[in-house]
Amino acid sequence: MPTSEKPPSAPVQELVEGVAAGRRAAVSRAITLVESTAPKHRAQARELLTHLPAGDAVRVGISGVPGVGKSTFIEALGTRLTSQGHKVGVLAVDPSSVRTGGSVLGDKTRMSRLAVDPNAFIRPSPSAGTLGGVARATVQAMAVLEAAGYDVILVETVGVGQSEVTVAGMVDTFLFLTIARTGDQLQGIKKGILEISDVIAVNKADPGDSDRQREARGAARELSGALRLVRGMESWTPPVVTASGLNDDGVDGVWEQVVAHRDHLGEAGLAEKRARQQLDFTWALVRDELEQRLRHSPAVRAIRETLSAEVLAGEMPATVAADRLLEAFDTAD
Ligand code: GDP
Repeated sequence: MPTSEKPPSAPVQELVEGVAAGRRAAVSRAITLVESTAPKHRAQARELLTHLPAGDAVRVGISGVPGVGKSTFIEALGTRLTSQGHKVGVLAVDPSSVRTGGSVLGDKTRMSRLAVDPNAFIRPSPSAGTLGGVARATVQAMAVLEAAGYDVILVETVGVGQSEVTVAGMVDTFLFLTIARTGDQLQGIKKGILEISDVIAVNKADPGDSDRQREARGAARELSGALRLVRGMESWTPPVVTASGLNDDGVDGVWEQVVAHRDHLGEAGLAEKRARQQLDFTWALVRDELEQRLRHSPAVRAIRETLSAEVLAGEMPATVAADRLLEAFDTAD
């Protein structure tokens, strides 16, 4: 990140030094700052990010429906990586936190070993009002962790709605965790997820359970077949492997595939992917901000109820209502 000419204010400077030195308290405070939506904090966060040293990490998204074993898997993978000398950051993008203010992901109690590992840093999902807001905070938290020397960042998300696409847009490799189901394996797996995944793991293939293993292998075969149809024309066809997070079995094999995907991208490919993500993210942020402004615009609020009622009653066409709302928004500021 380019360093601006202007030196940072004293509190930001202190935070920059703390983060660069890898101090946990400073990392925590810096992430709290970038998560804040208060205008004053947003300005400070920008200042912070401009002055943080650039870091680099392997950025991996991990997705799957609740109960598929994400936190157990991340605990096994994270512990493995820290024992190999890596510093691992775990972030979460949780759409439920947007609605309820509570978060089901990234909870420290779900990863008890990793939570006390000095070389791991777990942060639950921010509840920043919108998915765009959460994404903004997460991307910035990633920059903080990288500046603090974390060289692997795992971004966890649940397989619901738009959050997977959002996370796929901020990581190098997107890992989809699934489990074997009886009957049609592909049932319930959205085609969209096959389009954005780089590596797929069929989890809960426990080594001591031959039935589960057989089912998992069957599911993996079926998924491989589906992927060849959906992604066969691409230079990288996502590998499908089996694993058991609970038994730490096959977890290393999943990581090997993540590394293989990075090797496939190569340095130039990775740089290009990240650059494109930056551009996409720029526009996503703009769209999110515009939507917020639209929602909060007093001129729009003044006519919203009446127009909604008229459209609902069939008294006004949608196109006319939309024009009126946009006019109110445009002339307001
Ligand atoms: P998450 O909601 O996706 O984070 O899933 P969790 O990691 O919390 O796991 C949900 C449940 O599945 C828990 O009861 C885990 O103990 C169990 N589980 C996780 N991984 C495995 C596994 O590899 N094998 C088996 N048999 N159970 C697992």
